[in-house]
Amino acid sequence: MEYYEKSYPLVLPLDGDVDHALVGEYIGVLLSRYDFLEQVYVGESIRGRELYCVRLGRHDAQPILYVGAHHGMEHLTSALLLRFINEYCESMRRGGRMYGIGMDYLFAERCIYILPMLNPDGVELSLHGASTESPLYERLIKMNGGEDFTSWQANERGVDLNHNYDAGFLEYKSIEKEAGIIGGATKYSGEYPESEPETAALCRLIRTVSPEMILTLHTQGEEIFYTSGGSCPRKSRRIGRVMSEMTGYRLAEPDGTAAYGGLTDWFIAEYGKPSFTIECGRGKNPLPPDNFFSVYARIRELLFKAPILI
Ligand SMILES: [Zn+2]
Repeated sequence: MEYYEKSYPLVLPLDGDVDHALVGEYIGVLLSRYDFLEQVYVGESIRGRELYCVRLGRHDAQPILYVGAHHGMEHLTSALLLRFINEYCESMRRGGRMYGIGMDYLFAERCIYILPMLNPDGVELSLHGASTESPLYERLIKMNGGEDFTSWQANERGVDLNHNYDAGFLEYKSIEKEAGIIGGATKYSGEYPESEPETAALCRLIRTVSPEMILTLHTQGEEIFYTSGGSCPRKSRRIGRVMSEMTGYRLAEPDGTAAYGGLTDWFIAEYGKPSFTIECGRGKNPLPPDNFFSVYARIRELLFKAPILI
């Protein structure tokens, strides 16, 4: 596999679980090493953790957005995006090519915004459990029904960020009510769209830079969702097929509660542009960190080539 033939010096080892502090440390080292990499201020989580974001590409190039870790226990997606940033930077520094694309060309023609960890508080809960220093500690324990937060998906207020966007929000509220979904580990949409600082900050970024395409990384299932409840931008099916061929992941359409309030649903409805939810890897969430290299090898080509498919 080409991936193992080329070696790229890593800034920090990525062989374990990635928490918020490691994302900050990693990006800090990358910024000091590669002067063409730029940091973008996006905002903070409800607990005041920075939503780290970087930009790779010329300011006037076509904007593309990659987002990881909407869901707490899906922190492997943050590691995947950090590795991609590192490899992009190193390949760019060497003036090389990736999958036939000149890195200079990619940098000049596409500006990729990468937000590796949208839900740092959820990731911290999944990896380290609830902190007694949190003002929300007692509420968290109650919502979770115990101290094991390994499978936690929501943010620290118990809102599932990928149901908090303004897409079919009211319809979802009635589904939520019928299913008895309340604030907790997963699936609760919040009081109103963009009620959470994490989603509000991301939507502000999207409204500011107006990306031509969004890729959102989740785990798991080896599937690529390209529509939202049947609506599908003109180019999406073609791009989705190419992505499916690159990865071996199945092209899929959402059903049930998955079709409401997600970033992909909102972006397609609001902008009519391609947006993809990529379910990386296969297994039981949270995917163990030793899955990292095999999962990264499957989506690596997609991460480098998706921007030029648009
Ligand atoms: Zn997810």
